[in-house]
Amino acid sequence: MVELDDGGVLVCSIQMYGTVFVFMDGELDNKYYHLAKTKPQPTSDAFDRAYFETLLTNGYDKLSAKAFLATEQRIPGLGNGVLQDILFKARIHPKRKMGTLSWKEIDVLFRSVKDTLFEMTKLGGRDTEKDLFGKSGGYLTVLTKNAMGKPCPICTTEIQKAAYLGGAIYWCPGCQPIVDTERQTILKGKTGF
Ligand SMILES: [Zn+2]
Repeated sequence: MVELDDGGVLVCSIQMYGTVFVFMDGELDNKYYHLAKTKPQPTSDAFDRAYFETLLTNGYDKLSAKAFLATEQRIPGLGNGVLQDILFKARIHPKRKMGTLSWKEIDVLFRSVKDTLFEMTKLGGRDTEKDLFGKSGGYLTVLTKNAMGKPCPICTTEIQKAAYLGGAIYWCPGCQPIVDTERQTILKGKTGF
């Protein structure tokens, strides 16, 4: 809780773990703050298809989709909470290696990052979270802890859950299959990875 000079307070509660950074005006000596300020926000025009491709740096093909999108501050602000629906809508399994994605699937993933985050922002956040005034967001989250074991809204396959890279992942085995090694080899041949 931060007490303000005018008697007001700002309260922040975090599930699982998290950090609140408070900076003096002009202070920039923090990695996360600096990255968040210098990299384009996914909902901005600067975060376009060409920019997304610059994130496909050396070794990206060996990263899983979750590791690529939600670690190393590659896309500041994109964390585990929003990741599940982004990958569900792109029909990509969180553990799938990036190198197995075709260029068409990279396009779909890019669009899903933009569209899903835009929709969440426009609707005041996810319905699983509350804003500073205690009001739940208007975005109806598809993959939440409540979805586990329930039928997928698209194909009715049972939604699965697992612990992976420091947080729970949820996916539909029908819509987001893990690609087999044969297909990985085929794609590698086609794209030159
Ligand atoms: Zn499904």
